[in-house]
Amino acid sequence: TVTLNSTPDIFREELVNGSRRALAKAITLVESTNQDHRAQADALLESLPTPAEPSLRLGLSGTPGVGKSTFIERFGLMLCEEGRRLAVLAVDPSSSRSGGSILGDKTRMEQLSRHPSAFIRPTPSASQLGGVARRTREVILLVEAAGFDTVIVETVGVGQSETLVAEMTDIFLLLLAPAGGDELQGVKRGIMEVADMILVNKADGDLIPTARRTTADYAGALRLLRHRPQDPEGFPKAAMLSAAEGSGMAEAWAEIVSLSDWRRQTGVLEETRARQTLSWFVEEIEAALALRVRQSRNTAGLRAELEADLLAGRTTPRAAAAALLDSLFAP
Ligand code: GDP
Repeated sequence: TVTLNSTPDIFREELVNGSRRALAKAITLVESTNQDHRAQADALLESLPTPAEPSLRLGLSGTPGVGKSTFIERFGLMLCEEGRRLAVLAVDPSSSRSGGSILGDKTRMEQLSRHPSAFIRPTPSASQLGGVARRTREVILLVEAAGFDTVIVETVGVGQSETLVAEMTDIFLLLLAPAGGDELQGVKRGIMEVADMILVNKADGDLIPTARRTTADYAGALRLLRHRPQDPEGFPKAAMLSAAEGSGMAEAWAEIVSLSDWRRQTGVLEETRARQTLSWFVEEIEAALALRVRQSRNTAGLRAELEADLLAGRTTPRAAAAALLDSLFAP
């Protein structure tokens, strides 16, 4: 059996063979703040084989109540029935604190969570959004090594988290509710800019006419906003669906697949992932640097002095920071 103390080799083998136990434990290692666990996680991550075919990484965002879990449940089951293996991850540090509905909570996607081809992982607990995002990137690599060919990373509409999720996925979906014209201004421009598809949910019953109008409004807004020259005609796109009734789901999936195929064939996917890897590298440098500054014993005395100087008005925050960093890197 795999334990947290198993060697990376055993771990890797079990993981690649699709053991859920190994996957769950590997994720625990990656999310652990214990230094030994972290070292094991690093060894494991470095030794992971790259999947023969790149997976499909989907980002999904939407405000609470818009229907994300209902959507993922039905959409996910549809994909699993098609023979895909789906992992659902979440990026949302706030939920663990606020006690609101926890993203990626299995009880929100009951049937999907029991499906043998699906794996659902709630948001890792971390105090900082950037930390959550970096760990989620690693979890993506783990689930892919375990044979999941489709990954959905779910997030709530709280500004910065969308950008982070867009930075770790191939295609970004924004789920919206049918609403009057005012609503359009409520969606932040930054979110519109990262969306490849806007999906207007709850297009059922009395809401159909409103949903149709909302979809047309957003389609217009997207056309004005941007078209990535490397994307096929018509993207970014707006479409309506009903996660509750299932209408429009197959159509949305067909659009996603066509965009994904196009980006694979044209090399855009490869370029995007390369760029994402490099920006992840920069984030890791910045995070590690911040940690070293906080943990450095050598600079503790200097730091106290600089703080005193700062409060007495003898130096500026910028100059004090430079002095501290200089001392950290002094040979
Ligand atoms: P989340 O907070 O974004 O995960 O939203 P939920 O999936 O929990 O859905 C919030 C509410 O909207 C629930 O009461 C759902 O039943 C309802 N809902 C979700 N999708 C649809 C839909 O397609 N049509 C209708 N009419 N209601 C829906």
